[in-house]
Amino acid sequence: MEIKRVIPSGYCKGVVRAVMMAKQARKDHPGEKIYVLGRIVHNRYVAEALKLYDIETLEGPFSKEELLDQVDEGIIIFSAHGISSAIKQKALEKGLKVIDASCEDVIATQELIRKKLGEGFKVLYIGKKNHPEAEAVLSISKDIHPVYNSADIEKIAPEGKVFVTNQTTMSLFEVRDLFAAIAERFPEAEFEKEICSATTRRQQAVIDLKDADLLIVVGDPGSNNSNKLREIGLKNGVKEAFMIEDASQLEEAWLKGKEKIYVTAGASTPPYLTDQVIQTIKKYAETGILEKTTVEIGKIL
Ligand code: SF4
Repeated sequence: MEIKRVIPSGYCKGVVRAVMMAKQARKDHPGEKIYVLGRIVHNRYVAEALKLYDIETLEGPFSKEELLDQVDEGIIIFSAHGISSAIKQKALEKGLKVIDASCEDVIATQELIRKKLGEGFKVLYIGKKNHPEAEAVLSISKDIHPVYNSADIEKIAPEGKVFVTNQTTMSLFEVRDLFAAIAERFPEAEFEKEICSATTRRQQAVIDLKDADLLIVVGDPGSNNSNKLREIGLKNGVKEAFMIEDASQLEEAWLKGKEKIYVTAGASTPPYLTDQVIQTIKKYAETGILEKTTVEIGKIL
């Protein structure tokens, strides 16, 4: 059995920056209350690790505004996915100190959209429904129309200048197909693919796996880019692909009889979780026994 790590995989620059900003906030403000509005990146192990720094993640079945209503003092950190200007403004009006950990690539897409709106375009935005990055973009203007699937394209009135772009963590194939469908209804539309370079390179590395019997993606169920890695593997010749949060979710039935196993990880997955998955599979290859693995909170940077 051959077990290989897909390169590149795991943490991207935007995730590293956001986690470092949170840790720095604790160093700079010892003793102050620090909150993150939603998960700083989409991985529950990262949110759990931040608790060790006494940084609380506000989450649950609430809107960003409702979560913000729970905070009256201290510091609020906005996640790597971006934040609406209205929420940022509200936090400032409440007298909170604000730390914006929005990824630079997310901000660049927002700025591009603002520029195109200023030039009189209506914007079609391909994204994932209810994802914080998409929510922040849609809050910019009513002239931004979400496209979650091809059925949404038909709902958009054909008049006016049209600009089309997308969430940074979408699949290369999904965006290609939706761009083509949009071009049919809006032949004069302008297109700008905004899948970030970290997502592109991680997806391309999976596309290049021509001989994999099995692909294991280590990632949180809420992580869009991790989900896309699994989908892309299956679309491009990987025989089987599964996404797991950690080594405890590995199943023997997946590994049995496989010759080439590859392991990749989403951009928000702490490296120790991926290392543990690889070690567990290697041990299984040597002994034929899949050991029950207990996973504890580890180092996030
Ligand atoms: S996946 Fe891309 S857009 Fe998202 S945080 Fe990482 S670099 Fe930024």
